[in-house]
Amino acid sequence: MEYNPDQHSLKCPKCGHGMEEVTYGDVTIDRCSNCMGLWFDTGEADKLKARWMGDALDLGNPTEGKQWDKVADIACPRCGKDMEKTSDPKQKHIWYETCSEHGMFMDSGEFTDYKHETLLDRFRSLVKGGR
Ligand SMILES: [Zn+2]
Ligand SMILES: [Zn+2]
Repeated sequence: MEYNPDQHSLKCPKCGHGMEEVTYGDVTIDRCSNCMGLWFDTGEADKLKARWMGDALDLGNPTEGKQWDKVADIACPRCGKDMEKTSDPKQKHIWYETCSEHGMFMDSGEFTDYKHETLLDRFRSLVKGGR
């Protein structure tokens, strides 16, 4: 995705605080400096999930993230439309908000969960497939 300066400085859809851009490798996402929620533009979550230690960007407190997880009816920080709360197709206990056009929002701790389970699943399939 091309960097577009006009889309800079998003407001956190959960708490309304400003978000800062954080980069890991070649992936740049937005992180709220208050509630530590993470905004991923379409495709970025998968990209970051594939990066070793990509969850280093998920610095928030998962207990606090669970509180924010209860905040429903949030609007996409890019277009202002209502976002849809979706559970991950592979990990049903993880819920995040998505905008079909722009991306997804995860509360602090959720991305770590999302990523780790995947590594474990991959490891399992490697073990099974390898022998
Ligand atoms: Zn926030
Ligand atoms: Zn949107």
